[in-house]
Amino acid sequence: MPASTASQPSGQRCTYCDGTGDVHSPDGEWRGACTQCAQPTDRIQRQAEELIAAARRAGVVLRIDLVPRQPLAMGSLDMVADARVSRASQASGGS
Ligand SMILES: [Zn+2]
Repeated sequence: MPASTASQPSGQRCTYCDGTGDVHSPDGEWRGACTQCAQPTDRIQRQAEELIAAARRAGVVLRIDLVPRQPLAMGSLDMVADARVSRASQASGGS
């Protein structure tokens, strides 16, 4: 019997991640975000949200700012990350 798995119409579903944006190995292990279909902004946004969640669990306040580059130029911004212990976790700790 011929297998009917081949030649699916090239629709919207990504063959790497099935449109989910996440790539998994056959045994279900997460391999990371799909680079074949996801936009870089989507990928970075997702990673940033994961980073925020990790910071929250660790009691850390994470801040990412945009600062003008030197010399000043229109639209020339740099990203600066700043992580510090959250005041809430400091207060509950007490020393
Ligand atoms: Zn994909």
